[in-house]
Amino acid sequence: MCATVKTIEDMLNELAPVETAEGFDNVGALVGRRDAEVNSVLVVLDCTMDVVKEALEKKAQLIVTHHPLLFHARKNLLEEDAEGKILCALVRNHLSLIAAHTNLDQTVFSGSAACGRLLGLLNLRKETPYLFLGELPEACSAGQLTGKITKALRFPVRCYGDENALISTLAIAGGADDGDWEAAKSLGAQALLTGEVRHHNALAASMSDFVLFDGGHYGTEAPLVQPLAEYLQNRLNGVQYNVRVYPSQCVPFGYVEDKEG
Ligand SMILES: [Zn+2]
Repeated sequence: MCATVKTIEDMLNELAPVETAEGFDNVGALVGRRDAEVNSVLVVLDCTMDVVKEALEKKAQLIVTHHPLLFHARKNLLEEDAEGKILCALVRNHLSLIAAHTNLDQTVFSGSAACGRLLGLLNLRKETPYLFLGELPEACSAGQLTGKITKALRFPVRCYGDENALISTLAIAGGADDGDWEAAKSLGAQALLTGEVRHHNALAASMSDFVLFDGGHYGTEAPLVQPLAEYLQNRLNGVQYNVRVYPSQCVPFGYVEDKEG
C-alpha cells in the first residue's frame, strides 16, 4: 500500500488538528492533490524557491511547512511575485503542500517546546495555548542566559532588560508572540524567549523587572523541523509505509555556527 498526501495530512491532523488553528490562519492541505502517491517528504519552516529545488533533488512529492503559503487571499496566480513563482513551481512539478501553523504551535511539536528541549528546561509544560514554561537546570543571570540561548539555538539572541536579573523559570513563545510577556510573568517566569520583540513591549517589560529575549522568528521556530520530520518518519514506519521524511537543509538567513562544535 502506498502513502498519499492524505495519509500524511491525516497524521498531521492527529498531532495538530486543523480546527484548533486560529481563524486568521490557513492550514492543512493547500496545494496539489490529496490522492497523489508519496514516497518522499520534505519538512521545512517556509516554502521558498530553494526549498522547491531541494524537494525536487530529494524526489519528494510533498512539502510540509510550518508557515502557510496563501496566507493572504490572492486574486491572480502570476509569476510576478515571490509567492506566485513558488506556487507555479509547485504545480508545474506536481508537488503538494501541507501547512501546520498555529495548530502546531499549541503542541509539543511547536518551536517553543523544541527550544525548551534544546535548552534542557526541566518540567517543560504548556501553560496557555502558546506559552511553554520550564525551569533552567541552574538559575543564572539574564546575561549568562543570553549566551546559553544563542548557543542552543545557534542563532543570535538579544536580551532586553537587566543583564544581572536572576532567571530560574523561563517562558517560551516562539515566533511573533512578545505580547504574551505579562502572562508569562503572572505564571511565575522571570523572562520570556520569543522571536520578535517590539520596542513598546521591551520597554514595558523592562520597567516591570521582566526580561525579554529576542531569538528571532526563524531562530525560535527552526528547531521544530527536525522533531516534526522524525515524528512523521516514525509514524510512517509504524504503519510500514516506505516513505523517507527529510528535514530541509535550506537556511534562508545567516546562521551562527556553533564555534565550539
Ligand atoms: Zn512563525
